[in-house]
Amino acid sequence: MTDSTITSATLEVRDLGKTYTGRGEPVEAIQRLDFTIAAGELVCIVGPSGAGKTTLLRCLAGLLAPSRGEVVLADKVISGPPPGLAVVLQEYGRSLFPWLTVAQNVELPLKEKKVPAARRKELVREALEAVSLPDDGDKYPWQLSGGMQQRVAIARAVAYEPAVLLMDEPFAAVDAQTRFELEDLVRSLWERLKVTVVFVTHDIDEAIYLGERVLVLSGRPTIILEDVKVDLGDHRSQLETRSHPEFSRLRTHVYELVQAAKKGARSVAEAGLSH
Ligand code: ADP
Repeated sequence: MTDSTITSATLEVRDLGKTYTGRGEPVEAIQRLDFTIAAGELVCIVGPSGAGKTTLLRCLAGLLAPSRGEVVLADKVISGPPPGLAVVLQEYGRSLFPWLTVAQNVELPLKEKKVPAARRKELVREALEAVSLPDDGDKYPWQLSGGMQQRVAIARAVAYEPAVLLMDEPFAAVDAQTRFELEDLVRSLWERLKVTVVFVTHDIDEAIYLGERVLVLSGRPTIILEDVKVDLGDHRSQLETRSHPEFSRLRTHVYELVQAAKKGARSVAEAGLSH
């Protein structure tokens, strides 16, 4: 995989609103969101449970139509799953096909993308190497641990050479040690591939460790409470970064924002905090 094969893209969310209607009362999951994620940026989204994080990600992925506003990827309004976008979800167990080998799972979207067979083989090999599973291509997903399965899901997304990678709580179901390893994997892949990454998590430490920015959502109806810049440099390390005073400051600040969001705060001032 060469850097030139990936062209990252700017993602713009304009005046986005989503109200679920159906039986019963309508639920205004997202009131109004406006933000831009520059090409090649890694942005994390945190917020209280029920704040609409998954709803937002599904709108970004073109899987859910917004009730208002639009999502624009590389200057095109998204009206369905756009080409050049890959998604990694929490439930790795359900996202891999158990009757296909690891290599076949990674290859599948490439077939759909009509990538020629020789190139497919190359991309699968490179992606499995990138996630440190070079010798596991012939195994079946159920022969691997949870963390390894999630690596396969990441390999599948990376092999696709997406311009934008969306991740929805991808490490919520793995143990803490594996989680740290997978976080570092995401950072290193992002650094190498310069892909635009949107990472949803409920884990504040994870958001700060990974992100260049953290968007903190309010409670419903959802707006952005604060767009927090993370000034921790490009090189992150689990030990050093997490013990940095700026990391502690950011963690306290974002924690307080999320607590205030849970209590219904609609602005940083209302939360009684300064930026
Ligand atoms: P989060 O990911 O932040 O926990 P969600 O996006 O899953 O939040 O949900 C936001 C709100 O929208 C919640 O109140 C949830 O109950 C509601 N919601 C989610 N999906 C649907 C749906 N299909 N129909 C009705 N309400 C929904």
